[in-house]
Amino acid sequence: MDILVAATRNENKIREIRDILGAYFNVISMNEAGVSGEAEETGSTFEENALLKARYVMEQTGMAAIADDSGLEVDALGGEPGIYSARYSGGHGDDEANNVLLLQKLDGVPAPRTARYVAAIALVRPGKPDLCRRGTCEGEILTAPQGHGGFGYDPLFLCETGQTFAQIDADTKNAISHRRRGIDAILEALKAET
Ligand code: IMP
Repeated sequence: MDILVAATRNENKIREIRDILGAYFNVISMNEAGVSGEAEETGSTFEENALLKARYVMEQTGMAAIADDSGLEVDALGGEPGIYSARYSGGHGDDEANNVLLLQKLDGVPAPRTARYVAAIALVRPGKPDLCRRGTCEGEILTAPQGHGGFGYDPLFLCETGQTFAQIDADTKNAISHRRRGIDAILEALKAET
């Protein structure tokens, strides 16, 4: 099975990518691939940042890499936090502070507070064209967190099952998530190549 380096240090994302792609690729982490450092996320779109992250890892390893750049777009906030989802409240990846800030910004906004998760998935391979595809998952932002699973904004994100992403099990999330849909689009593009 071909090796694919998951170009992220987010353990939750690595687990989800491995669960979804494990049947097709031997997905290894940046640590396992011996990658030090981080790509700078200087892009202005999810797609640009996903490609930056994937190319950084391929340059360091010479191996194919897959990266996800993802986030939450809330309609009442004009698409915020968007590409700044991980660092919305300042520090990178402070999920609790990000959720508090999101609820503050939405204070007084009536339901349904429509939103979507977006994931741009980039696949880069030595000597082959880069692929980048987007997956989305529609939902609503609640007024208080519910559930203890998932990560990030999951306890506030009400999805199509009528539960939050933090209340559903990993298999259910992986069947309907933005990451799943983006990765499925990459698999379709790979099939179309053959
Ligand atoms: P990235 O690592 O720069 O792509 O930032 C992703 C950020 O978007 C995470 O830190 C979360 O805040 C948010 N996010 C993306 N996907 C999810 C998800 O599946 N659940 C919850 N939050 C997510």
